Amino acid sequence: MRRRFIVAVDGPSGSGKSSISKLLANEIGFSYIDTGAMYRAVALKAHEAGINPDDNNGLKKFCSAIKIMTKGGSIFVNGDDVTERIREPFVDPIASEYSSRKVIRDLLVDLQRRLGGHGCIIMEGRDIGTVVFPSADVKFYLDAMDEVRALRRYNELLEKGVKVDYERVLRKIRDRDLKDSTRDYSPLKRSEDAVYIDTSRIGKEEVFEIMLKMVKEKLSNGDPGC
Ligand code: C5P
Repeated sequence: MRRRFIVAVDGPSGSGKSSISKLLANEIGFSYIDTGAMYRAVALKAHEAGINPDDNNGLKKFCSAIKIMTKGGSIFVNGDDVTERIREPFVDPIASEYSSRKVIRDLLVDLQRRLGGHGCIIMEGRDIGTVVFPSADVKFYLDAMDEVRALRRYNELLEKGVKVDYERVLRKIRDRDLKDSTRDYSPLKRSEDAVYIDTSRIGKEEVFEIMLKMVKEKLSNGDPGC
């Protein structure tokens, strides 16, 4: 009996992929893996260690000694719980910068493949359907207009008590999209066989229902042993 079923969810920040992937995983009893958290964690630690993103040898050495562990909703790097810190706004551009480096991508793609090698998972990121698991059982690409994604991020920050300017948030989202989609190694792009969902004008519940229906349909075509 095959004991693997992978749902790949990709898309830019603010497209709703994290919150909906979590709901979906919960509903169907799958594990949820947030690969963005991994890139954030590694970038934060490399930055704190004073390693410049251009310092390839420094990054290689850093990557060879790093231990990343995820448990529940928490993420640890070399035993240090970085779950809260990686969500601080200053980490957004840093994560984007370090994640463009091949040595970092090789480290994390390998880890993600090992984590997803067995079991039934929903893995969310930028390159899951294109690079990490090109043969994923179901692939989604969630998107939304820049202004909508920026507004979601703006509201999220306000809720956390962070004072922000909407125009600045919009600029930063656009900068990050550009960087993520034009880098040399596994840029953010839609896999041709991914189901494209524009979440700009539809509610989270509706997106969730569309995705749930498609995953259930695929699951009913064969028993993956999940
Ligand atoms: O999804 P999130 O916004 O937390 O991701 C932070 C950053 O990590 C992204 O802007 C992107 O640069 C990087 N990332 C990536 N590949 C992934 C997931 C995230 O390059 N699979």
